[in-house]
Amino acid sequence: MSNIQDKVVIITGASSGIGEAAAIELASKGAKLVLGARREERLQKLQGEIEQSGGTAIYKVTDVTSQTQMEELAAYALKKFGKIDVLVNNAGIMPQAFLFKKKVDEWDQMIDVNIKGVLYAIAAVLPSMREQKSGHIINLSSVAGHNIYPGGTVYCGTKHAVRAISEGLRQEEAMSGTNIRVTNVSPGAVSSELLATTSDAESKAGLDEFYKVAIDADSIARAITFAIEQPSDVAINEMIIRPTVQV
Ligand code: NDP
Repeated sequence: MSNIQDKVVIITGASSGIGEAAAIELASKGAKLVLGARREERLQKLQGEIEQSGGTAIYKVTDVTSQTQMEELAAYALKKFGKIDVLVNNAGIMPQAFLFKKKVDEWDQMIDVNIKGVLYAIAAVLPSMREQKSGHIINLSSVAGHNIYPGGTVYCGTKHAVRAISEGLRQEEAMSGTNIRVTNVSPGAVSSELLATTSDAESKAGLDEFYKVAIDADSIARAITFAIEQPSDVAINEMIIRPTVQV
């Protein structure tokens, strides 16, 4: 039996891109999916597709910038399935622009979704994982969590923060003996709806060019699956997955 069979997996940002691909991949391996995002029609459609293929999925409309809604998503998972084995902390946005353009609202949104949302999700699942003395938290950082480039300053800042949070969480749980694994996943260019969150025309043009080499979201779903599949005493802590030709 795979190490994924019957695991209860919460995915934030499951309505498109990497989150959606991970949901389909993990459901095909027997995981019970708990899907969260803001667009209900997308979640409903995905749930239907998973169930049609013989998988198990439930969903709850969730804005990760609301701590209350994140707590409600975790509570829903516990109520329906009695445990949470894995959190795929995936919801994110990437409205890029040079700092001088002063897109302060977008800085706030990125900090709220990419950093605070990640923390709220960790807060929502950690108590039950600690109680059951097992769990796996997978945070979606980025190559932008390793590198910094013009126009990506705030996005890179949020993704560096995600890596710091992953490593801090890993150390805290390792020293507490809770058997909670932490994986930081850093994708390069991946085809998804992420570029649509960039409103600045100049940055968008640059990204469109850069993303010509983008790989499928399935590539990241497979990496996430690989991390979950490992025996429980093995933690894949850090993964970078780029298109082969991405410089
Ligand atoms: P998508 O835009 O396709 O997916 C992002 C998901 O996040 C959507 O499902 C969206 O759903 C959800 N989301 C956005 N804001 C919120 C919110 N406030 N509350 C709940 N959900 C939210 O992009 P990707 O699949 O590419 O991105 C997934 C993750 O991967 C992100 O963290 C991104 O930064 C990271 N990443 C992506 C890369 C890429 O090249 N694509 C590269 C490196 C990292 P909804 O709008 O329905 O709420």
